[in-house]
Amino acid sequence: MKKQTIAIDTPYVRPDAYGALAMPVYNNVAFEFDDVSQMADAFCNRIKAPDYARMENPTVTNFELRVKALTGAAHVTAFNSGMAAISNALMAVVSQGKNIVSSKHLFGNTLALISNTFLRFGVKPRLRDLLNIEDVEEAIDEQTCCVFLEIVTNPQLEVADIKAIAEVAHRKNVPVIADSTVIPFTETSLNELGVDIEVVSSTKYISGGGTSLGGLVIDYGGYPSINQRLKYELLVNLGAYMTPQVAYLQTLGLETLDVRYQRQAANALWLAEALKNVNDIRSVNYVGLSDNPFYELSQRQFGPTAGAMLTIDLESKEHCFRFLNRLRLIHRATNLFDNRTLAIHPASTIFGFFPQRQLDQMDVRQTTIRFSVGLEAHEDLLNDILQAL
Ligand SMILES: *Cc1c(COP(=O)(O)O)cnc(C)c1O
Repeated sequence: MKKQTIAIDTPYVRPDAYGALAMPVYNNVAFEFDDVSQMADAFCNRIKAPDYARMENPTVTNFELRVKALTGAAHVTAFNSGMAAISNALMAVVSQGKNIVSSKHLFGNTLALISNTFLRFGVKPRLRDLLNIEDVEEAIDEQTCCVFLEIVTNPQLEVADIKAIAEVAHRKNVPVIADSTVIPFTETSLNELGVDIEVVSSTKYISGGGTSLGGLVIDYGGYPSINQRLKYELLVNLGAYMTPQVAYLQTLGLETLDVRYQRQAANALWLAEALKNVNDIRSVNYVGLSDNPFYELSQRQFGPTAGAMLTIDLESKEHCFRFLNRLRLIHRATNLFDNRTLAIHPASTIFGFFPQRQLDQMDVRQTTIRFSVGLEAHEDLLNDILQAL
């Protein structure tokens, strides 16, 4: 079956007692057993049955199974935020004295996690230019526990050659972990490009309308010890499993993901093309524009769509602030891939705690505005941008 069908018609683990069509929310903590030896088997993972909702809950399991069916992954684990998914996935591979090879072009909290939090536990960041494969290859050594990358970086919109990076990593038996939040996993197979573990903030496209925080670790099974540690050590000991209410909302989101995403990506492309011809805008950055330097690579790796995030550059920070204050329809807010269009000045908000020197190193400019394009009529979005300019 095709992804649109799988997203809706993947069967539940067990049919609901009342035949409920939408998965009920199992809003409970403990599960009862008729038989004590079965209970012991469940606790010791000899049989698969929920016993306590910090480790397993049927509503969450159902959500995980749909993602598994959509991606063809070996294991999927749902967490209570994108950062929980990222930190748990990384924690499954790091240990003291090891290093993580990654980039300075990362989501702000991920960058801080790798360069501050893990460093305190003796894990070293090796932040390189992922566009330079020799640089990446040179950085990987016996102590490297993973290569971590984002498939399209935010807000630089840089695309690395994932296949080439995976080749050099796998030659040294190092797993590749990729954050695929910016283009949904229903559009492409990152595993075919060599990604071993995919991490996603399901807060974004999947939640649909910014309803709930969530995260996914999608494990393609190339390094079996990772899932073992994630499910039977970290999920239990750190307690960041997704809650059933969130799984319910995000399962509904998954059912409409494709229609929403196609519309958002088409709106983003239309808007990027329209904004290219506007005088007061110095530049438009969108990977889906055919003259973008990453266009070919993006099409090859991620298919015909290029996500719903684009940036524009104006003359100065002051111009950006004035522009943002004048918007009437587009919302001044962070988050990505809400149903409504959002605009933000990343340098003063998401990256506001970084000193200018570091912003320069990260290529986060004071002149950049980031848009997350929603489901509205594209003419209305363009009109709002034009009046604000
Ligand atoms: C939002 C985001 C995250 C963090 O996800 P949360 O659900 O907010 O914890 C991680 N990576 C990327 C690329 C994101 O856009």
